Amino acid sequence: MTEQQKVHPVSDEFAANAHADKAKYQAMYQQSLDDPETFWAEQAKRLDWFRAPTKIKHTTFDSHNVDIRWFEDGSLNASVNCLDRHLDTRGDQTAIIWEGDDPGDSKHISYRELHAQTGKLANALKELGIGKGDVVTLYMPMIPEAAVAMLACARIGAIHSVVFGGFSPDAVAQRVIGADSKLVITADESVRGGKQVPLKDNVDAALSRPGTDVAKNVLVVKRTGGEVEWKEGRDVWYHDLVDKQSSDCPAEEMNAEDPLFILYTSGSTGAPKGLKHTTGGYLLHAAMTHQYVFDYQDGEVYWCTADVGWVTGHSYIVYGPLANGATTLMFEGVPSYPTHGRMGEIVDKHKVSILYTAPTAVRALMAHGDEVMASSQRDSLRVLGSVGEPINPEAWEWFHRVIGNSKCPIVDTWWQTETGGIMIAPLPGAIDLKPGSATLPFFGVMPAVVDNEGNLLEGATDGNLVMLDSWPGQARSIWGDHDRFVQTYFSTYQGMYFTGDGCRRDEDGYYWITGRVDDVLNVSGHRMGTAEIESSLVAHEAVAEAAVVGFPHDIKGQGIYIYVTLTDGVDPSDELKKELTQWVRKDIGPIASPDVIQWAPGLPKTRSGKIMRRILRKIAANECEGLGDTSTLADPSVVDELIEHRANR
Ligand code: ATP
Ligand code: MG
Repeated sequence: MTEQQKVHPVSDEFAANAHADKAKYQAMYQQSLDDPETFWAEQAKRLDWFRAPTKIKHTTFDSHNVDIRWFEDGSLNASVNCLDRHLDTRGDQTAIIWEGDDPGDSKHISYRELHAQTGKLANALKELGIGKGDVVTLYMPMIPEAAVAMLACARIGAIHSVVFGGFSPDAVAQRVIGADSKLVITADESVRGGKQVPLKDNVDAALSRPGTDVAKNVLVVKRTGGEVEWKEGRDVWYHDLVDKQSSDCPAEEMNAEDPLFILYTSGSTGAPKGLKHTTGGYLLHAAMTHQYVFDYQDGEVYWCTADVGWVTGHSYIVYGPLANGATTLMFEGVPSYPTHGRMGEIVDKHKVSILYTAPTAVRALMAHGDEVMASSQRDSLRVLGSVGEPINPEAWEWFHRVIGNSKCPIVDTWWQTETGGIMIAPLPGAIDLKPGSATLPFFGVMPAVVDNEGNLLEGATDGNLVMLDSWPGQARSIWGDHDRFVQTYFSTYQGMYFTGDGCRRDEDGYYWITGRVDDVLNVSGHRMGTAEIESSLVAHEAVAEAAVVGFPHDIKGQGIYIYVTLTDGVDPSDELKKELTQWVRKDIGPIASPDVIQWAPGLPKTRSGKIMRRILRKIAANECEGLGDTSTLADPSVVDELIEHRANR
C-alpha cells in the first residue's frame, strides 16, 4: 500500500521549539529503561507532594502475585495539583472553556473560579456524609460541573466512578451496585445535538432496581430546567446545597496508592471491566503525556473531543491538562450539530491549538467531502491527535490535509482504559510520522511482540502486543475482582501484561496496531489483521467506513466478510461489489479477497465510537441469537438492520 510507506518527517522548525526533539526523546527513553528509579523519582517532582516519595517502583507481573505500586510512601492530593498550585501563577487564566451544545452558548472558567467551585462542592459532599474511600457515581452531561465533581471527590479522598451520560438506567444500576456507591451526581437533563436526554429520569429508573439502595442521595445539577420527579429525602438540588458552602475546603492527604477513580472499559470485546486507578502514578502519567505527546505549550488552548465518561476524558480533558495549568476545552454537543462544520468552527471560535479526536469522527466528516470544513479556517491548529481505534492511512491523510491545512503533525496515540495514559505515540518534535502507525513508546513503556506461545519476537515482525514492565499510570486492579484482573491481563503470557491487541513492528521499530487479537483473521493459514483490509477499503472513494470479520469457511478455515458503509451519494450495486473485491485483491493480495460484502447503512459501535466486531462476527456466522453483552452499544437498531439484510444465508 503506497499510503503506508509515506513518511512525514518532523520539521526542523517544530523540533526547535518542542518539549522534546529526537536526541532528547532518545536520551530520556533510554534512561527510563536503564534506570527507572532515578528517572521516575526525578519526573515525580513535577507534582506537588505533601510527602515526597522515597520508594519509587515496586511492581511484579508474576501471575501468582501481581502487585503494582508506584511512589508508595508519597502522599499528595490530585485536586491540589490541578488547582491550588496554579493559583499564584495563573489564578486568572482560563482553566476550562465550556462550549455548549448551542453554538451561542459558551463560558470561560478561571483556575481561581474552578478552585472555589471545587471547594464548595467538596464541602457539600461532606455534608452528605461522603468521605475518604466512598464511591461517588457521576452520570453527567459535558458541563463544567462534571470536572468540578471529579475534582471535588479527589479533594476529600472520595473515589469517582463516571458513567457515560448516554448509558441506560441498567448500566447505571450495575455500576452503582458494583462499586457500592453512596451518592449519584447527575443533572436534570443533558443536551446533545439539540435534543434533551432525561438523565435524572434515568437515575430514578436505575435506583428503582434491586440492590441499588446503597445510594442514599442524588445530587442534581439544573442544566435545562426540564421537568423531573423528586424523591424527598433522597434528591438534593446542586444549587441549593452547593451555593451556600464555603469555598475553602482543606485537601485530604492521600497516599500515592489510594484510589482516585474507578472506570469501566468501553465493552468492545465483552462485559465492561471496572478498572481501579490510583493517585500518584496516574496523575504523573497523565500530566507528562499531555505535555510531551501534544507538545502542550503554556497559554495554548487544548481540545480533546472525548466525553468525560471515557478514560480519554479523564486523562486528557481533566487531569492531564489541569495538572499542567493548561486551558482545556469542554464541548457539550456533537460534531454534527447544528452542521458538520461545527468542529472547525469551534476551533476558530476559541483559537484551539491542539485538537485530539477519534478516527470515527474523522471518517464521519470525511464522508461529507472537503467542503465540510469550508466554514472554518483552523489557522490556530498546531498539533492533531487521534485515539480509540487504528486510524486508516486514508483518514490520517484527510485529517492532516483538510482539518490541519497540511501543516500539523498528527499524534496517533495507542493506549487503553487499563493503561491510564498514552503508551505508544509519536512525540511530534521527535518522531517522524507514518500514517497508520502509533510509532514508538512513551518514556518508561516497554512494549514487545510475542507469538501465541509467549516467545519474544525480534525485529520486524507481527504478533501479540504485550508490556514487559509496569508504568506509573497502570490500573492496579479490577474493582472488587482482582482475580479477573490477573486472569485477563497476566495469565496469557507469564510475567507480561497482555494488551489484547495484535500489532506489527516494522524495520524502524514502529508499532502498527492491527486490531484486537480476537479479530485476527486466519484465511487458509495466513494471518491477517482486520485493520489492514479496512484501511484498503476506506482508501476507495466510494467507501466511508468498513468493518472486516472472519466467518467459518469450509475450505479456507475462515472466510472474509466485509461490511461497507458508502460515502454520501454513492449507490450500492453489484458492480461496485466487484470493483471493491478487485481493489482489495490488488492492494493486499488475492489472499485478502473478500468472500462476502454486505452494505451497511450503519455499523454497530460502542458509545465511545468503536466498531463492535464481535457482533458483526456473530451476524456473519449466522449466529444472531445471543449477541453477548450489548449494554454499551450506541444504537441497537443498527444491529437489527444488519441481521435483516445479512448477506450470508
Ligand atoms: P473492552 O476492553 O471492554 O473490550 P475497549 O478495549 O474498546 O473495551 P478502551 O479501553 O476504551 O476499551 O479501548 C482500548 C482499545 O482501543 C485498545 O486496546 C485498542 O484496541 C484500541 N485503541 C485505542 N487507541 C488506539 C490507536 N491509536 N490505534 C489502534 N487501536 C487503538
Ligand atoms: Mg480493552
